[in-house]
Amino acid sequence: MGRIHISDIEAAQTRIKGHVVRTPLLSARPLSRALSCEVRLKPEFLQETGSFKLRGASNAMLSLDAATRARGVVTASSGNHGPALACAATRLGVASTICLSEMVPENKIANVRANGGTPRVEGRDYDVSLRICMGLVRDEGLHLVHPFDDPDVAAGAGTVGLELAEDARDLDCVLVPLSGGGLLAGIATALKARSPQTRVIGVSMERGASMVASWKAGRPVEVQEEDTIADALGGGIGLDNQWTFETVRDLVDDCVTVTEDQIKDAIRLIFATQGFMVEGAGAVGVAALMCGKVTPDGPAACVLSGRNIAHQAFWDVIQEKGLPA
Ligand SMILES: *Cc1c(COP(=O)(O)O)cnc(C)c1O
Repeated sequence: MGRIHISDIEAAQTRIKGHVVRTPLLSARPLSRALSCEVRLKPEFLQETGSFKLRGASNAMLSLDAATRARGVVTASSGNHGPALACAATRLGVASTICLSEMVPENKIANVRANGGTPRVEGRDYDVSLRICMGLVRDEGLHLVHPFDDPDVAAGAGTVGLELAEDARDLDCVLVPLSGGGLLAGIATALKARSPQTRVIGVSMERGASMVASWKAGRPVEVQEEDTIADALGGGIGLDNQWTFETVRDLVDDCVTVTEDQIKDAIRLIFATQGFMVEGAGAVGVAALMCGKVTPDGPAACVLSGRNIAHQAFWDVIQEKGLPA
């Protein structure tokens, strides 16, 4: 197992400058009032493909030499890394194949095509689509850009943490949506170097939280993937995890989970107070504050990691209960 270092994240920041949006840290007064604590928002849904994943994908693509680029790249995705890799590859004139399971919503498959990638939809869950992807690496010589277990991808995601440290000196905690842990490992590495007093907290959905189960077990474990409104957080961390588990185990202060209803409440509250449409995975941090799983002792930052929810699914969530007053 290995660790990324702050120097990798600094190098990523220089490399991806101009290729991704340098997002602000927003003070969110209406949301803060509703939650009775000071909340700031990192709007990663503003990235071109609608999620922070463009940071890691851009860092990985820009790090490849010409011979590797010529082979083409491949990945497996629960829905946001695929379009991000397709976008970063297409910009460099590189072909990309994106393996997606039958659980991935249609809007995310369309998002791969819209970004110039070739989707390959096969397999019942993320872990099967990753096996199909590894077959293409072996048989067709495509270069793998793993969605999280890759030092360049995690370092690219870690630039979110560098920006948080640049923009705020007084954060008590940062709430980070957690699946494979590239985003959390990257942010934790950046913040423990630049803002060690800030607590770094991972948040997953209760249904199929593989890193949280692994974190509790003290080693990577397998978890059954389930349908969830936070579909971008589905999939396992890999029993052979190399780059994220150890960092999460050693640097992260806490990991918590939230229920489907709590995530939907957070989607509604973020829209009602701030007017932002975020997907389930992007709302879990706010959900953890809302239900009291995390109680800050000072300003809290939530990473709103993505907005790629099908419009119909979004309206269904809004209409289920209506907007909070
Ligand atoms: C991928 C993703 C995450 C989780 O990132 P990991 O690096 O896999 O932990 C969170 N939110 C959204 C919107 C994502 O697409």
